[in-house]
Amino acid sequence: MWMEWNDPHELRRLSDVLGADPSTVVTIDGSNGPVTDTAEMLIGRLGMADTGGSYFTFSNENNDLIWGFLAECHRRGWLYKGHDTMPWCARCGTGLSQTEMNEGYQDRDDPGLTVRFPLLDRPGEALLVWTTTPWTLTSNVAAAVGPSVRYVRVRQRDDVFWLGKGTLKAALDGPFEVLDEVDGSELVGWRYAGPFDDLPAVQAAFSADASSGPEAAGGPYEHRVVAWSEVGEDEGTGIVHIAPGCGTEDFQLGKTLGLPVVAPLDEAGIFVDGFGPYSGRDVRDVAEPIIEHLKREGRFQRLETINHRYPHCWRCGTPLVFRLVDEWFISMGELYDQPRETLTTQQVDASLRYQIMDVVDEIRWIPDFGYERELDWLRNMHDWMISKKRYWGLALPIYDCAACGTVEVIGGRDALKDRAVEGWDSFEGHTPHRPYVDAVKIDCPGCGAPVERIKDVGNPWLDAGIVPFSTLHHREDPEYWSRWFPADFITESFPGQFRNWFYSMLAMSTVLRREAPFKTIFGYALVIAEDGRQMHKSWGNAIEFDEAADRMGVDVMRWMFAKARPEENVLFGWHAADEARRELLILWNVHSFFITYARLAGWTPADGAPRPDERPILDRWILSRAAATAAAVEARLAAFDAVGATRALSVYLDGLSTWYLRLSRRRFSRSDDAPDQQAAFA
Ligand SMILES: [Zn+2]
Ligand SMILES: [Zn+2]
Repeated sequence: MWMEWNDPHELRRLSDVLGADPSTVVTIDGSNGPVTDTAEMLIGRLGMADTGGSYFTFSNENNDLIWGFLAECHRRGWLYKGHDTMPWCARCGTGLSQTEMNEGYQDRDDPGLTVRFPLLDRPGEALLVWTTTPWTLTSNVAAAVGPSVRYVRVRQRDDVFWLGKGTLKAALDGPFEVLDEVDGSELVGWRYAGPFDDLPAVQAAFSADASSGPEAAGGPYEHRVVAWSEVGEDEGTGIVHIAPGCGTEDFQLGKTLGLPVVAPLDEAGIFVDGFGPYSGRDVRDVAEPIIEHLKREGRFQRLETINHRYPHCWRCGTPLVFRLVDEWFISMGELYDQPRETLTTQQVDASLRYQIMDVVDEIRWIPDFGYERELDWLRNMHDWMISKKRYWGLALPIYDCAACGTVEVIGGRDALKDRAVEGWDSFEGHTPHRPYVDAVKIDCPGCGAPVERIKDVGNPWLDAGIVPFSTLHHREDPEYWSRWFPADFITESFPGQFRNWFYSMLAMSTVLRREAPFKTIFGYALVIAEDGRQMHKSWGNAIEFDEAADRMGVDVMRWMFAKARPEENVLFGWHAADEARRELLILWNVHSFFITYARLAGWTPADGAPRPDERPILDRWILSRAAATAAAVEARLAAFDAVGATRALSVYLDGLSTWYLRLSRRRFSRSDDAPDQQAAFA
């Protein structure tokens, strides 16, 4: 939860009270005096004018605005339920984010199983495929090869196999004879017999009704070889078993190719109906029976134990599985195969991505390439997944009727009250978060049945994208909002943001207003170490801010950052600081020369200055340069161009030191021409 408030201790106190009993009545110091409410409701009011602070993702204002945005997407028919395959802890019964998954890698022993997929059009020949998760073989739909990887056909005793050339030694035991060698692209399209074709779940997924996409071509789907650029020869056989219902990358590949999805597991990691003898069994207990089945069917090739890094649940240490889940998406709309300038109004009105592009046109992008980068993302992006399998977070106001399939989206707490048929009393007095908000049921507009909220919460980029509305109090104080919207300027380090923060703000503002949420966007690259690498304590190239401020001086640091071209990484370190310091030392030396001689001569600014036309030409020149530099710096800064401003200053400093001071040096110490000495000081 992102927060920004005057008093962190007060926030901690609120958090403690909330944890102990959310209904405790608390008083805090607000911007206009004390504010009293229950701890829970006070927290829902943070960021508002009466409580102060600016940006609380859990505030009611934030919540209502996002609900309104989602209801508007639904009204236009852009919100829909789709699928994704995500890391899952069967013991905790929850999904994990990519970041959480990355925290939980541990070494672990798993079966390294090599199986045979017999080729239907090449009798007696089989693909060799390797996996460390035998349970996923129940859901196999394809075998992927690297299109430019070399594959060989080999004979071993009475069998003929296909596998990656580079994996031969590791993947095959005993002598073999190479018969043939081809590029992976030649294998693409070959049909093979799947390992579990008899399972009802597989047959249902492969039936003509279920399949769609380019691979289906009308008839039922058949197992086949597909091309995938990610396939290498580092491990296994160079032929990768693809189960879109059991792996994130597999799911993405399957989506691109239009492959069917077989999804075997429920929330507790138990095989669902349709998986024959495995239905009802725990995913952790099926490896052995699956291997037995493969042996009986003549599909078994080899079993070894491999020790590898595998993701575990960071909470409980259980090895993770990947399972297919319902997720909610906002459609980005069609991508038309024609130049943008030729689109009709109707085409643009029907496709959110082009409406966002029009908004992108209104914005000034610094550096320039940001404009193209954002358009490129909008041309290529898939639909926006807005749901998350979590407990904490924005409760998505989506009501999906189990009885008739009608989906309803509620645009605010008032609308929820109007539509509530159950549970409003339990919810009233609480912020719209779990568990209280889940007590409310609404009437289904399709069949009238009471419908409960889906359990998902919102993707955090919804919270980030609503900022141009929530922090400006769009709902609570529309007049205030209209004074500040669109923002003049936003800035953020750009890696990742074209598809995250910049994108989410643009998308939400386009849906709600169809106008830009800000006028100018300034993106900048990273601060990295002088050796061109990221800073890491263990690499000895990290510099803490406090240490830099003490040893370099903060003016030197400011000069370094101001001089950096925003599109390039700043190489930050002691040598770069020395260079910046040398430049600033010129100014310092001029200053100290001036002070020394002004003191000696007893000159002060109160002594006044001669009129320009009474001055020597050198004075007139440097005064003119100073005025021009001031104007240039101001103009560059007004255009958000700190680099241009530092350049103007550098040129001026050079003129001041190299020409003006050098040629005027004697004038500061002479006592024979007092008016000229005065003029030099002034
Ligand atoms: Zn767990
Ligand atoms: Zn219904």
